[in-house]
Amino acid sequence: MIRFKQVLVSFFMVAGFSLVAQEAPKEKESGHTNQSSFKQLYEEFSTPNTYRSASGAPGHEYYQQQADYVMNVVLDDQNHRLYGEETITYTNNSPDDLEYLWVQLDQNVRAKDSKARLKNGEGIPAFETPGGFAGKYITEPFDGGFVIDHVKDAAGNALPYTINFTMMRIDIPKPLKSKEQLSFSIKWNYNIPDHTVDRARSGYEEFTDGNRGYVIAQFFPRMAVYNDVEGWQNHQFWGNGEFALTFGDYEVNITVPADHVLDATGTLQNRKEVFSKEMLSRYEKAKKSYDKPVIIVSQAEAEAAGKGFSKKKKTWKFKAKNVRDYAFASSRKFIWDMQAVKVGAKDVMAVSLYPPEGNPLWEEYSTKAVAHTLLSYSSHTFDYPYPKAISVHAKNQGMEYPMICWNYGRPNEDGSYSDRVKYGMISVIIHEVGHNFFPMIVNSDERQWGWMDEGLDTFMQYLAEQEFGEKFPKAIAPYPKYPSRRGDPAKIVPYMAGDQSTIAPIMSNPENVFQLGPNAYGKPATALNILRETVMGRELFDHAFKTYSKRWMFKHPTPEDFFRTMEDASAVDLDWYWRGWFYTTDYVDIGVKDIEKYYVSNRPTKKMRDYLASRNITEADMPPMVYLDNEKSDGFDASLKGKKPTESSKSLQAFLMDNFDAAERAKLKEPKYFYKVTFDKPGGIPMPIIVSYTYADGSSKDITYPAEIWRKNNKEISVVVASQEELTGIVIDPKAETADIDLTNNTWPRKEVPSEFDKVKQSVKGK
Ligand SMILES: [Zn+2]
Repeated sequence: MIRFKQVLVSFFMVAGFSLVAQEAPKEKESGHTNQSSFKQLYEEFSTPNTYRSASGAPGHEYYQQQADYVMNVVLDDQNHRLYGEETITYTNNSPDDLEYLWVQLDQNVRAKDSKARLKNGEGIPAFETPGGFAGKYITEPFDGGFVIDHVKDAAGNALPYTINFTMMRIDIPKPLKSKEQLSFSIKWNYNIPDHTVDRARSGYEEFTDGNRGYVIAQFFPRMAVYNDVEGWQNHQFWGNGEFALTFGDYEVNITVPADHVLDATGTLQNRKEVFSKEMLSRYEKAKKSYDKPVIIVSQAEAEAAGKGFSKKKKTWKFKAKNVRDYAFASSRKFIWDMQAVKVGAKDVMAVSLYPPEGNPLWEEYSTKAVAHTLLSYSSHTFDYPYPKAISVHAKNQGMEYPMICWNYGRPNEDGSYSDRVKYGMISVIIHEVGHNFFPMIVNSDERQWGWMDEGLDTFMQYLAEQEFGEKFPKAIAPYPKYPSRRGDPAKIVPYMAGDQSTIAPIMSNPENVFQLGPNAYGKPATALNILRETVMGRELFDHAFKTYSKRWMFKHPTPEDFFRTMEDASAVDLDWYWRGWFYTTDYVDIGVKDIEKYYVSNRPTKKMRDYLASRNITEADMPPMVYLDNEKSDGFDASLKGKKPTESSKSLQAFLMDNFDAAERAKLKEPKYFYKVTFDKPGGIPMPIIVSYTYADGSSKDITYPAEIWRKNNKEISVVVASQEELTGIVIDPKAETADIDLTNNTWPRKEVPSEFDKVKQSVKGK
């Protein structure tokens, strides 16, 4: 008898007995492959190897190339043309022999016959900037491509080369062997574009007084990346997919009109030659000023300089170590201020350059935002390793380079400005200075993966903005917290709930996505924010994120290196999360579908008794069990209502009597109410179910079911709620943490909830 009962119990356990199992068998369906949302990403991920380990860390044979540059650059301010000659020393640290070298000629995207002008097939856009329209239909195409004067080897012999659009292949006489080094030089020049007309990432802005502010980048032929992932990363520059670049040391001499003020990537080598005595003494003060910026060139001085036009030249000499790129800004109209920031044990200079057109906003906030960014980002990653960070004001720009970036935020002519301009300016400075961390130091391939720098940086930007608000409450008054544009889960809802034909997975090339902003910035930033706050928790997330940052500091990570490290350092299986948020265009939508009341019973339900009978098993054959019966089920015994479980179940009573003494039993709490709560999931992304239950006595209880609750059924699951009090309400995701796109199904009893989209519509109407 005992044996038989044990067999019975194990039969029910193994079979996962449920009432569903009793239904008449359907016609046989065909089989299927593993479609689980929780399936590991083996098929999507590349196989780990000795260069990149399965842990997400650099492998024991990890290597990267080195490209060192010595450059002489001359700015012709009169004709806005840039001339340069560079010597690149390229070190082949790879195990491979290289038959040729690929060099990037980014300015060719702006060549007269550039294919980039013909790449879009969407017909007539709804609107265009006047400059964009004129450039397409009225004026001659701007002639902004590189003129290559020569490519020579170290002995001065011409090297043959082939230019394919934005890439130049240099054919070397014999392969560059593994561990060997090669020097060659390139002489070039190009027409600098007006970046306010051409929407270029670099160029000049002409002020009303005829002076120009130059923000110069992608200005020299740059080595393409060669690595274990892509071989040569020589995917063309079409305009959206940014840059893949090799680390190296730079020695750069920049000759500009003598009345220009200039700053650039790297440490200035001849300060005494290019600074006035006054500037030198102010600079010495700034190096010791940790609480506020010191003016190096004042507004009055910048305005006075703007009235002249020096025919004399000055050469500014810089050296930069271990940077992946180089950029500079130059104008006779720049105001200049800076202060010191203690980052770890080191002093870093936070610097701003801006024309008078930027004031009063820039003087007040730019350097403050730079200093704050360095501290905030360092606390979440690693101590900022470079000696300075410069924010340059350039109209409509938001663009990043090592130690220097261009930022928008222009007040009206009378100096007034809206909140939109002010917070836009502070935010873009945090963002672009923040790019020093991703991708300038954690050097991901922007050409292929826009989100790896933009998404991580926008996530970090959100943290830095919120910390800025906490640190400077007066600067953000009357707002209670910094009004971040991206990062809060609810803000990504209109995008994720949008038309699927205009959404691409995050894991897409930037050239191939429909809406680059939400795709590469907003959604990954939000996904990481939710991962930190809701899925992993701050402690596990922050440690893992820091581990990734430190592992890949001054190296070239891939998406898998990030995904793997976040798991490796936290012991949280995140394949489902990466799959849902990064590899699909699925969205989050979880609802409460149904609630049923159950009562404890001594007997199996009628349905189960019938099933037992069909197998010749009597009730008496069953081992001691506690049964729960639904008041709606056939043959329900209404007398069970209102009884305590121990009153209704002899076997439960016996168990408690056998295992607890009277004093222990007195402390036990017996739930009186049993509910089967069914949650459904119209959205494709499995997420934790964050539920707030409220009870008749006014109390409430919050339970977060892990995302893994969806592992066997990705559409609908049910949980049991046992309570002393009657359940009166259920709210899913009460704090809007998950970017749930439809809130109408988040409550029981149902109530009318305006959708996020409606809320957005309302707020837009209000403005
Ligand atoms: Zn960015």
